[in-house]
Amino acid sequence: MSATSTPHAMLASARRVVVKIGSSLIVDPDSGAPRAEWLASLATDISRWRDAGRQVLVVSSGAVALGRRALGLSKSPALEEKQAAAAIGQTLLMGAWGHAFAPFGILAAQALLTLDDTETRRRWLNARATLETLLSFSAVPVINENDTVATAEIRYGDNDRLAARVSQMVAADLLLLLSDVDGLYTADPRKFPDACHVPEIRALTPEIEAMAGAPDAKGMGSGGMRTKIEAARIAWGAGCATAIFRGEAFNPLKGLESGAPASFFLPPETPHGARRQWLKGGLNPLGVLVVDEGAARALRGGASLLAVGIIGVEGSFGRGDAVAVRDSAGTLVGKGISAWSADHCRAIMGRKSDEVERVLGYRGRPAIIHRDDLALAD
Ligand code: GLU
Repeated sequence: MSATSTPHAMLASARRVVVKIGSSLIVDPDSGAPRAEWLASLATDISRWRDAGRQVLVVSSGAVALGRRALGLSKSPALEEKQAAAAIGQTLLMGAWGHAFAPFGILAAQALLTLDDTETRRRWLNARATLETLLSFSAVPVINENDTVATAEIRYGDNDRLAARVSQMVAADLLLLLSDVDGLYTADPRKFPDACHVPEIRALTPEIEAMAGAPDAKGMGSGGMRTKIEAARIAWGAGCATAIFRGEAFNPLKGLESGAPASFFLPPETPHGARRQWLKGGLNPLGVLVVDEGAARALRGGASLLAVGIIGVEGSFGRGDAVAVRDSAGTLVGKGISAWSADHCRAIMGRKSDEVERVLGYRGRPAIIHRDDLALAD
């Protein structure tokens, strides 16, 4: 789906969607308990989307807010108290999600990420493999930052950014940021009554940035409009569309489909195209994998690279580094990210998958380069 599509078409065609929910939607401000009925209504929407063949990942805040209440802490706890609150609140949060999904037979899967899991390619490969496996089991990953070990220097800082990184990692085509406003306005609508709502964004201009306004005062969560636009920008670079809209009402996803006001960021690229461009342009190969004819043909046909097809390894690279793939005549087949180091590639090249385990003593990732991590040469 490209920028030529309308928000409605984008919404109807999205296959993999990341839904980000902030603390203020999950936690009732008066009681401090999870908003169970609202969660049930959201789970109904998610279940319906899954029945329609869509994959859904949730990025959920609320651990700190729920834990703080359970511990009777103040609104601004010390760092260690906040980490302790997150440890306690996270189980309460997952309890609420599990409860909401249970009537639909959906398994909620807790996935706690730290900044390194999306910023270091080696770890990124691991986190992505786990999320992909969860999706293949039809579970709904419910992702949060691992606040119990995160400190200021090593934090995403807010779940809007985390959700954008997750969207990028799993090549989602749509990121939904459920908010307490219905998207972007040309000016702050609380101060300027004639401010106009912006329903579609097809270029990230300075005017759009300016609409983020000043950093928000911190409420229950930490994301304001600024962090939402920043998240939309990260998703944009990955070819993923973003919608910002009001989430408080019951069945928020149905509301969006029925035309509730929203701001849609519609990038020109698809996730696949953006990733291909990144692989082709942005990466400096640290080595070469030479492949036999059969493997070269299979790769050109869209397959992943297996150890059995490798006949030579050049250079020194680690897991997660970029490598060039050439055939035995020296022709470039493509460029990709190796899931194995050069030393490991040398040890297992030419081996069938069952032999790989015998050579290494453990079962590693089956592909040396996963097909999603390979950009074929033109
Ligand atoms: N990860 C935090 C929590 O679960 C919230 C961060 C945010 O809302 O941006 O409480």
